[in-house]
Amino acid sequence: MPLEIVRNDITKMNVDAIVNAANSTLLGGGGVDGAIHKAAGKGLLMECIKLGGCKTGQAKITDAYKLPARFVIHTVGPKWKGGNHGEKSLLESCYRESLALAKEHNCETVAFPLISSGVYGYPKDKALRVAIDVISDFLLENDMTVFIVIFDKAAYKISEKLFSDIAEYIDDNYVDAHTDYSRESMRMKMPMQSVMAADFCECRASDLDSKLKQLDESFSQMLLRKIDEKGITDAECYKKANIDRKLFSKIRSDVNYKPSKTTAIAFAVSLELSLEETEDMLRKAGFALSHSNKFDIIIEYFIENGNYNIFEINEVLFAFDQKLLGA
Ligand code: ADP
Repeated sequence: MPLEIVRNDITKMNVDAIVNAANSTLLGGGGVDGAIHKAAGKGLLMECIKLGGCKTGQAKITDAYKLPARFVIHTVGPKWKGGNHGEKSLLESCYRESLALAKEHNCETVAFPLISSGVYGYPKDKALRVAIDVISDFLLENDMTVFIVIFDKAAYKISEKLFSDIAEYIDDNYVDAHTDYSRESMRMKMPMQSVMAADFCECRASDLDSKLKQLDESFSQMLLRKIDEKGITDAECYKKANIDRKLFSKIRSDVNYKPSKTTAIAFAVSLELSLEETEDMLRKAGFALSHSNKFDIIIEYFIENGNYNIFEINEVLFAFDQKLLGA
């Protein structure tokens, strides 16, 4: 998946490059910087000494020594001074410069901590927003898998306003799972024999053949039709869906491809489908949206509000401990 938010210790990430929230001396410090130097061993410090420091907003690359990654990209985030001292553009520059270095070194997977959001005091929700915006812009033009590594869930907070709006929407719409009997779940609960008997009566063997010939448009066909109708390219569609190219090719070449629910929704979001169209697309993959689970309600909330930013949706799904959209 091109952009993933994960909870982990960045020193454990098995990726091509991890990014270090360093200070301008590049000689190590506390927080994530200290953890990276400790796990990498003395060799990292020796190489850093030769770099002669780094300016705020810029980035430099070294080997990763004892870490599972191949490279460490050191970037110096801005100190938070209230928000009117160019902090945002400096932080954006940290992500941009680090991604450019990763690209230059042919990295396919990169993991970032939330730069500046610790000792440097950048508010975590704002820091996460900057990370998501710059990384998602970059991914529209580049093939790379980028992880944002959140160390401490308790400290992780999404934008207060968005969070409370969604919490309220869930309260309004969340019904106890036991009171929801969708047609599929009813059908699953019917004894197998009576389902088969009912199906057989409904459609005699000779009819079956003609019915099979009238199969509706499949998920893959609907997806390709919608891409044409919207006048976008395949790449624009799968990138906006946070889906990688290989999976998209598989779907494109298999008319009967059955995607997972999160993949199907990711495409609906990238195509900016209405709620009705989204439900239609999901049905083709054998799924439905229901008010008996938080995941579905969050998706519905975003679609109804016309917000089709998959990274923002994932940020909220993550905060509610739900599966993320994409491959
Ligand atoms: P800065 O000085 O840029 O604020 P910090 O290291 O103090 O850097 O914090 C940056 C972010 O990294 C914080 O959100 C902190 O919780 C997080 N962090 C600290 N240790 C780790 C780690 N081992 N892996 C991932 N993130 C970490």
